[in-house]
Amino acid sequence: MACSHCGDTGWRPIEEAGIRKVVRCECWREALTGKLRGDARIPPRYRKCDLDSFVVYPNDTLKKVVKNARAFAKRFPSVDKGLFFVGPPGIGKTHLAVAVLRAAIQGCGARGLFYDTRDLLRVIRSTYNSTVRTTESEVLRPVIESELLVLDDLGAQKTSEWVDETLNLIVNVRYNERRPTIFTSNWEDNPDDDPNSLRVRVGFRMHSRLHEMCEFLEFDGADYRFWDASNGAPSSADLLTLFKTQKRLGRTTGRRAPGQLKAQLRDGSADVRWPGGKAGTS
Ligand SMILES: [Zn+2]
Repeated sequence: MACSHCGDTGWRPIEEAGIRKVVRCECWREALTGKLRGDARIPPRYRKCDLDSFVVYPNDTLKKVVKNARAFAKRFPSVDKGLFFVGPPGIGKTHLAVAVLRAAIQGCGARGLFYDTRDLLRVIRSTYNSTVRTTESEVLRPVIESELLVLDDLGAQKTSEWVDETLNLIVNVRYNERRPTIFTSNWEDNPDDDPNSLRVRVGFRMHSRLHEMCEFLEFDGADYRFWDASNGAPSSADLLTLFKTQKRLGRTTGRRAPGQLKAQLRDGSADVRWPGGKAGTS
């Protein structure tokens, strides 16, 4: 059915101070942002994530991070730096990163792109295989040129000279061209040479560049992986209870499956701390 406002022309006639003119119709804007959202490669499980649906509960670090994420989304594209969400697994970092990306697309028609860091490296690597018909530059160009890029789970990748060079290239070009990037990472941003620190995981050169180009938003919170989804979406009170319980029992390590941890949370035997890193992988 044709749009009742514009008859599918994309232009809607209006009258302002006695002068008739045309403006872009809402249906045109909606089609455009819908296309941009579709092109952004947001994984299906995060497709509905937005800033309004992010549940905030009494937790000072989380409140501050959500406030700064909202401010960034509102200011975009007039931003000097990107964002770096850092904290333990399962606390909503990817949700926030996607929410900001979606807000930038919806609010100003930004050409945005989401990639899990390991996926991106795998896709680039696959272009070296002669049966794959894309070239390295066909994959890299949109990553480097997108107006807002999300690189999820930085530091989870196995390091190698090639990985370091590839990531440094992407990050440095985006930095030089002043294109903001949003990162998420489970690796603690501490100043030590701890093998589980972000600095060691991504390399010293990349680490200092990341600090130049991003506002670091470090927070802790309830680990959603312990929320039983059969109870529906958790409320603010549910998340506060979960967060308090997890704090009392200690943070989870990256080595155990959530199932085991759920059992330990129930019987109170969980007694482990977050050393940085991703749960469920080794
Ligand atoms: Zn219309």
